[in-house]
Amino acid sequence: MLQADTPVQFLKGVGPQRADAFARLGVRTVEDLLYHIPHRYLDATTVTPIAKATVGMEVTLVGRVVSKGVVPTRRRLRIFRAVLRDSSGVIECAWPGQAFLDRSIKPGQLLLVTGPVKYYHGRQVAPREQIVLADAGEGDGEGTNGQGLVLPVYPATEGLTHRQVRRIVAEHLEAMLAVASDSLPESLRREAGVATLDEALRALHRPTRSGEWEQGRRRLALDELFDLQLVVSRARHLAKSAHKGPRFALRKTHTSRLKDTLPFDLTADQKRAVREITADMIGDKRMHRLLMGDVGTGKTVVALFAMLLAVENDYQAVVMAPTELLTEQHGRTLTEFLAPLGIMPEILLGRLSPAEKAAIRGRIADGGARVIVGTHALFQEQTDFQRLGLVVIDEQHRFGVEQRAALIEKGEAPDVLLLSATPIPRTLALTLYGDLDISTLKQKPKGQRPVKTGLRTGRDRQNVYAFLKERCQAGRQAYVVYPVIDESEKVDLKAATTMAEQLKGELAPLTVDLVHGRMKGDERDAVMRAFRDGVVDVLVATTVIEVGIDVPNATVMVIEHPERFGLAQLHQLRGRVGRGADESHCVLLSDVPEQRSRLQPFARTTDGFKIAELDLKDRGMGELAGTRQAGGINLRFTDLERDDDLVLLARRAALALIGSDPSLSGQANQPLRRRVERRYERGIELFRVG
Ligand code: ADP
Ligand code: MG
Repeated sequence: MLQADTPVQFLKGVGPQRADAFARLGVRTVEDLLYHIPHRYLDATTVTPIAKATVGMEVTLVGRVVSKGVVPTRRRLRIFRAVLRDSSGVIECAWPGQAFLDRSIKPGQLLLVTGPVKYYHGRQVAPREQIVLADAGEGDGEGTNGQGLVLPVYPATEGLTHRQVRRIVAEHLEAMLAVASDSLPESLRREAGVATLDEALRALHRPTRSGEWEQGRRRLALDELFDLQLVVSRARHLAKSAHKGPRFALRKTHTSRLKDTLPFDLTADQKRAVREITADMIGDKRMHRLLMGDVGTGKTVVALFAMLLAVENDYQAVVMAPTELLTEQHGRTLTEFLAPLGIMPEILLGRLSPAEKAAIRGRIADGGARVIVGTHALFQEQTDFQRLGLVVIDEQHRFGVEQRAALIEKGEAPDVLLLSATPIPRTLALTLYGDLDISTLKQKPKGQRPVKTGLRTGRDRQNVYAFLKERCQAGRQAYVVYPVIDESEKVDLKAATTMAEQLKGELAPLTVDLVHGRMKGDERDAVMRAFRDGVVDVLVATTVIEVGIDVPNATVMVIEHPERFGLAQLHQLRGRVGRGADESHCVLLSDVPEQRSRLQPFARTTDGFKIAELDLKDRGMGELAGTRQAGGINLRFTDLERDDDLVLLARRAALALIGSDPSLSGQANQPLRRRVERRYERGIELFRVG
């Protein structure tokens, strides 16, 4: 008898060798195979009859191979050619430099090709992609002959063609569907108006008309969104209810004095955020809140109110920053703001001597230290607090839900405030940060001038450098950003290094230095400090400067190859300038003309939320800055742009279910619990706690 967890090897037509190939695709069991969904579909409406293919068109053609062979040319380039025939006519296809295709493409095969039609002694297709639909003598299969049905194309691998996968799935589909278990609550399914699991999987594996698979996709998206919301709702439940958290009272001593001594008024957004935080902190549930706002929206001051609320209640407050440099920066800001109140923050840095660190840890343990700043790493080492009431975590987007959960499990359950400078749209926030309450800062304080952004090409380079030089000679500083997306890419790194060398010559007598991700932490910090202190005029940098560093005197940023960055990432980079009173400029140097339409809207706005939405449209959710690091989130079917409604429904249903059965221990919820367990190996530990 077939079961969901039967190994695919035992299916007729699979066997040990193909089972190995399936394993490489992540398919081990019958259930895995059921969820091995086609990555594309071919249907008649997209296939052009050969006779209708004209020069200049982009076409998808389906035809039998009538002849083929490799043709050498004078320039030693070997071209593979094949002639295809369908009921309307014949056409030649040519693959320059791909003579190896001669081994796999055979006369009589039914071939699908996609590519442009060119003119070369007549019409000729230059395929970008080709797929063998059927072998010689073989019928046109369950799929299409290019005349009607829809053909699913499955991810394939060596030793297992997409056609073999298709045949195996088709043969066993009914039997597999019979053992699929559907654990989505029926009420949620109806409310969302999506297909049953059976209908959905049929629509995906055996669509009868174009577009039908979309119904299937939405249903599977709801499944995965619901599972994710169960995990985040559980984390939320634990964070807020399983531990009471400290209870603060409104004393208005330090907080009121801060208000009086601040050199500015809070923006309306800041006031609202302070109110929300205060309500959390004086309430009887533990605070677990995210403060989200673009660079420069004034998150630090808001966090400072929260810290002082803790301090005036005789608790300690700590700020954790991701790097040593950011820790110093926070230390400096806090020292400045707290001086009028007579409070001295303790700044715990990795580079302090062991004796100095021990002294600070001593003051943390005996309660002499009230406000403490340090890196995440330093607090992971043994640190005893006398009475910790609040943890503020800066630039938290490196933390996934599971890491956040681990954090709240620690110790005596202080309140937690996370800060993020990566604004994201609401549905994405509910997806990634569903365990947190969220406050947002959209307004920038008055007096900040938006960074002027311009698009230029390589032809303008000399003018751009001249401008940069002029600004630096007037006493300002500049960044030149070079894309090294993957810091292990030697080629990229070399380009950045070469760039820095060239600029040294070009911009003399200005001082130019380079910072990149492969440098050791202390080397990098040394260069950054030199830049911060004005010793270096121009900093050539890879994306390592993205997070948090604040040099108000830097007013020019030139970004090379902006086409290699996502918009949200460009926005993060641009946030490094425009931090002082002077007007700042950001120049995007791109020689890829098609990029103008993508970069133009970015150049026109400085609203991080708008840019996040543009970015989401541009690249899809998986690539959005920060989300990749958000470990544990696994969305294969969801398209956040189209599935807003599903996110909200899944969230509501999950919160309700966790409210009534917090650890999913009820008998009826066992199938759901098992499914979540399979999808979130670590997330499920949250359920074991309860
Ligand atoms: P973020 O951390 O959100 O990037 P910061 O908290 O560093 O922003 O604030 C950016 C700058 O704006 C700081 O110099 C801060 O003192 C200043 N600032 C914060 N709030 C206000 C305000 N309401 N009015 C004027 N300046 C402000
Ligand atoms: Mg900040």
